[in-house]
Amino acid sequence: AGDLAGNLVTVALEAKGAQGVARSTGLPDDLFVHDGQITKRPVRALALSALAPRPGERLWDIGAGSGSISVEWALCGGTAIAIEAREDRAANIRSNAAAFGLAHRITVIADKAPEALAPLDAPDAVFIGGGLDSAMFDAIWSRVAPGTRLVAHAVTLETDALLGELHQRHGGELMRVDIAHAGPLGRYRSWEAARPVVQWSAIR
Ligand code: SAH
Repeated sequence: AGDLAGNLVTVALEAKGAQGVARSTGLPDDLFVHDGQITKRPVRALALSALAPRPGERLWDIGAGSGSISVEWALCGGTAIAIEAREDRAANIRSNAAAFGLAHRITVIADKAPEALAPLDAPDAVFIGGGLDSAMFDAIWSRVAPGTRLVAHAVTLETDALLGELHQRHGGELMRVDIAHAGPLGRYRSWEAARPVVQWSAIR
């Protein structure tokens, strides 16, 4: 089964003209099946850097979307539990896990957090990429053991404000990421700014 999955990755990558999977995190977005809701490559690299995966560790990927964070975590030798409320996206996570040969390391739960978290084995790290509000935070914070690494991303002003409060209360590192890509402007080029992403990382 491992060989088959490995072949699928090779086939997928050859189709895109690549030589193999890079060892770095922040893999190209188009290596993943997604519907646009995906943590984009440079921001994903920053998420993985903050999550600091080590072999054998368990991640809770809450609001997992395409599962790109779970895949990159599992590529570093850990296991991931991907919790995604939407069934169509949960299906994308399953196919991405299979294409990377990681189906045995990624458990997909098509359900809503925080309710879905109750029966899960405790994590070493938690990534919150969607659905964060203060009730969700309280449920996670009270559930995880001291020493657990938490990383949350906010795109909306509401979640941004919550992360500001959580940083004041619990410390950790709060960072705003402003990325711009060069794009065409008539005969010239110009910077096209992406929406800012706020990242809060802390240790329970
Ligand atoms: N990190 C993901 C993108 C996350 S987009 C990736 O790289 O692909 C945020 C996701 O959170 C969406 O798919 C949304 O359906 C999901 N979501 C929002 N609230 C949720 C909740 N309470 N429980 C589970 N998933 C949730």
